[in-house]
Amino acid sequence: MKKERKIQAPILSQEEKGEATRRKRWEMRQEKKRLAAEKEKEQALARQKEDEAFMKEAVKQAKKAAALGDVPIGCVIVREGTVIARGYNRRNADKSVLSHAEIISIRKACKKTGDWRLEDCTMYVTLEPCPMCAGAIVQARIPRVVIGCMNPKAGCAGSVLDMLHEPGFNHQVETVSGVAEKECSDLMKNFFQGLRRQHREGSEEGA
Ligand SMILES: [Zn+2]
Repeated sequence: MKKERKIQAPILSQEEKGEATRRKRWEMRQEKKRLAAEKEKEQALARQKEDEAFMKEAVKQAKKAAALGDVPIGCVIVREGTVIARGYNRRNADKSVLSHAEIISIRKACKKTGDWRLEDCTMYVTLEPCPMCAGAIVQARIPRVVIGCMNPKAGCAGSVLDMLHEPGFNHQVETVSGVAEKECSDLMKNFFQGLRRQHREGSEEGA
């Protein structure tokens, strides 16, 4: 029996042995790469899920603005997986252009952390930030901003200007856009449709 096996075992030349080793190493490298790619994919998926969950918190804030008759924009700031500040647009309620969701959230987050730098935070905002808020984000050195829907008329994360990725500034922001996009844009659409309807009804009553 032992003898038979010996006979069946292929006799490899030095060259063939080298080839077999190379192939084995190549296969091991491929497997390592495959595992790394799989892990990366898993991490990206987990991050996407986390982003969607926090954007939902921002959407909740946006709804508070709408309830007050303000344009529905909401924002939360997250540190180490926890929401540390919430804000919603109160421009009309406060009669102040400074009362944007992002500015309110930044102010609260700074108060909470006791620092004007928010270097270990992520901001979630339902609408692409305006020039004032984009400026505040750069000033506060927020490293990552997750955006619901873009704002082609006033956005400064790439729409009108790209202040968040401006290489001339001393701070650039990583941005992710289109998270819960439909929900965020539907909020805006419904709000403005409601306003137009009110306006029409008002003018009909006046006629
Ligand atoms: Zn703003």
